Amino acid sequence: MTVILELTRIVQAAAEAENPAAQVKLVVDAIHHYMAMDVCSLYLVDEQGDMALVASHGLGEPAVGKARLPGGAGLVGWVAAKRHPLNIIDPASHPAFYYLPGSEEEQFRSFCGVPLVRGGAVIGVLTVQSRVQRQLTAEEEAFLVTLGAQLAMVVANWSDWQLTGMVVTRALKGIRSAPGIGIGEAHLCRDASLFSVVDAPCKDCEAALESWRRLVQDVQEDVRREQAALGSALSHEVAAIFDAYQMLLGDPALLSGVEQGIRGGHDLPSALKAVIHHYSELFLAMEDPYLRARSEDIQHLGNRLYGAWLGTHQSEVLPQASGRVILVGNQVTVSDIANVPRHRLAGIASFKGSALSHTAVLSNALGIPAIMGLGELRGIANGDPMIVDGNTGQLILHPNNAIEVEYRNLSAAEKRLKGRLRKLRDEPAVTTDGHRIELFANSGLLADISPGLANGAEGLGLYRTEIPFMISDTFPSEEDQVRIYSQVMQAYRGKPVHMRILDIGGDKPLPYFPIREENPALGWRGIRICLDNTALLITQVRAMLRAAIGFDNLHILLPMVTATSELVRFRAVLEDALAQLQTEGFEVTQPYVGVMVEVPAAISQLPLWREYLDFVSIGSNDLSQYLLAVDRNNPRVSSVYDHLHPAVLHEISRVVELAEALKLPLSLCGEMSSDPAAVILLVGMGIRRLSMSAARLPQIKWLIRNIDTGYARRLLAEARSLPDSSVIRETMNRHLQDLQLP
Ligand code: PEP
Ligand code: MG
Repeated sequence: MTVILELTRIVQAAAEAENPAAQVKLVVDAIHHYMAMDVCSLYLVDEQGDMALVASHGLGEPAVGKARLPGGAGLVGWVAAKRHPLNIIDPASHPAFYYLPGSEEEQFRSFCGVPLVRGGAVIGVLTVQSRVQRQLTAEEEAFLVTLGAQLAMVVANWSDWQLTGMVVTRALKGIRSAPGIGIGEAHLCRDASLFSVVDAPCKDCEAALESWRRLVQDVQEDVRREQAALGSALSHEVAAIFDAYQMLLGDPALLSGVEQGIRGGHDLPSALKAVIHHYSELFLAMEDPYLRARSEDIQHLGNRLYGAWLGTHQSEVLPQASGRVILVGNQVTVSDIANVPRHRLAGIASFKGSALSHTAVLSNALGIPAIMGLGELRGIANGDPMIVDGNTGQLILHPNNAIEVEYRNLSAAEKRLKGRLRKLRDEPAVTTDGHRIELFANSGLLADISPGLANGAEGLGLYRTEIPFMISDTFPSEEDQVRIYSQVMQAYRGKPVHMRILDIGGDKPLPYFPIREENPALGWRGIRICLDNTALLITQVRAMLRAAIGFDNLHILLPMVTATSELVRFRAVLEDALAQLQTEGFEVTQPYVGVMVEVPAAISQLPLWREYLDFVSIGSNDLSQYLLAVDRNNPRVSSVYDHLHPAVLHEISRVVELAEALKLPLSLCGEMSSDPAAVILLVGMGIRRLSMSAARLPQIKWLIRNIDTGYARRLLAEARSLPDSSVIRETMNRHLQDLQLP
């Protein structure tokens, strides 16, 4: 019991340390103390595969950060190679003993080392040594093994851990929220912290009430000003974020809640704190991530109102110099972004928040690299140099020279590449042996409609209608939907538009329609929800048909279909919608109807479904998830989730063969279309239509224009002969290198 308590205490203390160096030092000090050993040391595998001594209690301080054991050498190397603990006396007589110069290790008479393993690989070794000859008890050894496992989790996050000096370059892992690389200096966004307010009684309630009303008006005015500052950069959805703030500010529950608090004898900040706390807790307790993310908005608003009451501005004044800044904060808010001129804003790093937060939505729309959910904001000061890598979700603090140069090169290469590839915009995607591949864009926000067209999309291969539903506060009305869909149709006039009916449930909840299920991936989702809510479905289908009038480019795509009856029922709803609209005088036309092939059950049923379908589109994201039984959003199993898995390749080939035999037009609209390694294989299979996020179109077009179908078929045959996805990926990466893919 005491061991468990001690373990918990050590791990908690380490979690609160300022930086990685302090964290590991704290752990080795604590182990030394608790186990009464003379030495406790942590070695980590460095880039060369050597063992670097990164922390020690007992070995000479000068050795830390400098001493390195050649990979595989010594008892430490032995533990790493065997991957199990070594608990011995008289270590110097062990055949693997290796004397680390300057360490004075010859004086130690006992040794125990345990490996740190992460993702199947040894990343370090934790050791204890003592001058007296005593072997650790089984309990002590277990204690060390457990701490090793905990430490492995901590240090695995420092992927770019550098051991130079005390200012270590370190990388924090967060959630990728907007792609790109941003290099700049930290600018901290400090919220006036409402939750730190100490409750106090109200001295003059009437004056406090008056002050409250004025405060709300002032902040409403501020939000309007910020909205104007972003001006034309605002798409409809982003403008809706500001509208949501205005709505919260005008919410009678908020207004009267604070008034009641003041009348009840509390001063304004205390009354405000109680109301904001109540609402934010309500949202935080909700299961679905979108709703939980709304608690951020509420807290932000509370802090803002409090800041205005204090007479402070919520973010610090931007330094005058013209350097580029990265906004860093516990909660970087939409207002913080609005307060920085666009040309100075290099990136966003928000320690709280999720990829669904409004900050993430806005960053994407403005093209600013962003990372959310970085954990605890600690040890970062204004002006600290940093890099936001929105492509991998890493925040690199104090990048050393080499890393910064690397990222600057990468960022310059990204820009050059964009420029070079932009020239291909109007060129067709044709293989060198003359096979035409159609490249479409995926979209969901109106904000990403124009990048698709700017990058030469020949159509919209997947419009995810759940996105406009997600950033709305209620189900959008038919008129709202007609307005949104019409803009999409208009933008892509003359080109095919594939609109998917609402694909909610699973990992895509709606804020105002919570669904609680034990196993949502296998539950009420996609077409199942639509067919159970035919009112919702018919409204959406009517809106799509109305928006398509005069364009004749509507393809309706059905998600998660698993049964013939679903197609029959959808066709009936479609006929009903067409008949209703015709009676109402709308000149609607029959759309094309197709299904997503994203549940394995769809594949073998394609022949049965032929009469109901005009086309099919492979949803490789869900198809991989369901074929491999791997939750596509679970980071713990992300290494198993790879669409290059032999089973996925096999099943997609089967779909291609079936579609050809059935003369069903086929496309693929999952992430595979954006993955160059997968694209070669898909072309080899015979897929001639791919839909991807707009940003990936130029690179994929370049690829297609530089391969021929014979080569693609040969690589497919090679991939199909390989045993697992990692080998397939390595092989394909080698081929891509030979091609010099930009
Ligand atoms: C898919 O599953 O591959 C797909 C394109 O749909 P979504 O990613 O929206 O589930
Ligand atoms: Mg899907």
